[in-house]
Amino acid sequence: MHRGTSHVEKFAGISGNKDGLPELPDGEFLPPMELSCVENYFKEQVASQYKDRHVIIARCAHVTEPQDIHRQQGRTQCQQRSLCQRGCPFGGYFSSNASTLPWAAKTGNLTLQPNSVVHSLIYDEQKGKVTGVQVMDAETKEMTEYYANIFFVNAAALNTNLILLNSTSDRFPNGLGNDSGLLGKYVAFHNYRGRINAEYDGFPDTATDGRRPTSAYMPRFRNVFQQDTDFLRGYAVGVSSDRAASRDTDGWGTDLKKGLLNPTWGQWYVGAHIMGETIPKESSYVSLDTQKDAWDMPLLKISMDYDDNDEKMLKDFFEQMTDMYTKAGFTNIRTQDSKQAPGLDIHEMGGVRMGKDPKTSLLNEWNQLHACKNVFVTDGACMTSTSTQNPSLTYMALSARAVDYAASEMKKGNLS
Ligand SMILES: Cc1cc2nc3c(=O)[nH]c(=O)nc-3n(C[C@H](O)[C@H](O)[C@H](O)COP(=O)(O)OP(=O)(O)OC[C@H]3O[C@@H](n4cnc5c(N)ncnc54)[C@H](O)[C@@H]3O)c2cc1C
Ligand code: SF4
Repeated sequence: MHRGTSHVEKFAGISGNKDGLPELPDGEFLPPMELSCVENYFKEQVASQYKDRHVIIARCAHVTEPQDIHRQQGRTQCQQRSLCQRGCPFGGYFSSNASTLPWAAKTGNLTLQPNSVVHSLIYDEQKGKVTGVQVMDAETKEMTEYYANIFFVNAAALNTNLILLNSTSDRFPNGLGNDSGLLGKYVAFHNYRGRINAEYDGFPDTATDGRRPTSAYMPRFRNVFQQDTDFLRGYAVGVSSDRAASRDTDGWGTDLKKGLLNPTWGQWYVGAHIMGETIPKESSYVSLDTQKDAWDMPLLKISMDYDDNDEKMLKDFFEQMTDMYTKAGFTNIRTQDSKQAPGLDIHEMGGVRMGKDPKTSLLNEWNQLHACKNVFVTDGACMTSTSTQNPSLTYMALSARAVDYAASEMKKGNLS
């Protein structure tokens, strides 16, 4: 495991089990959350039928046992209420608001500049590097230039592409660092179109308690050690189970409380969704529109779609899950293809991809623009493939690694 990943895992706090799977390496984990009895049953059924398929508890950035490093960030234990997207008052799950921003503030060197829309980077032809950034105040629309020695462009994958494409100069008429003409190209994402639901009539005396903010997970099992399907790459599967409950909400006070706390339990439901790797292609790209937004930024045109590989992968997901559900004795199996457009998925990547050859990539091994060494991109824009895992931990590890490198290069006087 790379030092950067280990560093980030300990800092962010990742709960998980050391599963010992080559296709999903173990990390520095806090105690795992638990599988429900139905998920555990499914795990056993899958393990008994397929030697290469594994159902595990998903690893997640929730503090299940706070360490000193988390307390120092002002965070405490996750209460398992699954309200994380509202912003966790306990700092139970990792986010920049709960973790990295307060940590940076503690150094005394952090300046937050809210309401700032980065318009473009300023390239100095004489110096052969970027010297500043043009920023518009979102409220007053006033433009200010800020100067620095090093720039990290991390506006999330597609907006990083937008800012670089919008940073034009005589040296880089098609966008900063874009000598290869590939800026904005080879964009990909995760395919979340497929769901498969079923029912299970076992475990009638058991129910879940609390709201676990994660699920069970099946790491990719297709084309891992050899090409064994008619499509490329593979998919991971998120699996969860729940039991229907109806609650009597008539009455007031004690009666209402009793009704809420003593539900009538119904059937167990099982649901699974695909997280499929889509293949980055030159024909999948983002580019600048002629139309601008209220902050003088061109709109970003996104040109990408599903292809034959995605359709075959989705079909395989439905077939394989149907098979596994059937073998586990699940009934009333229903598949659902949302056909949602790319962009409704949440893991966009690419456009400023890394690589050894400046003719086929934009960034070098340290996430530095080949053609402009004092600019780093360490968000999803740097990715060359999407794999089948949630990607943010990798971005964070790449960021820690690139920052370490940039700081040491700066000390050596190579980036000043
Ligand atoms: C619903 C949802 C669930 C997700 N779940 C997971 C998960 O379980 N695991 C996982 O690994 N990932 C998950 N992701 C993906 C994860 O959120 C992203 O990978 C991660 O936030 C990327 O971090 P970032 O810093 O690159 O971008 P962001 O967190 O998006 O931060 C970019 C920042 O740049 C700002 N910005 C953009 N353009 C400009 C500009 N021109 N000027 C100034 N500021 C600008 C934005 O306002 C934003 O604050 C999920 C995403 C969503 C939407
Ligand atoms: S479930 Fe989510 S919101 Fe609740 S404590 Fe845990 S991290 Fe915070």
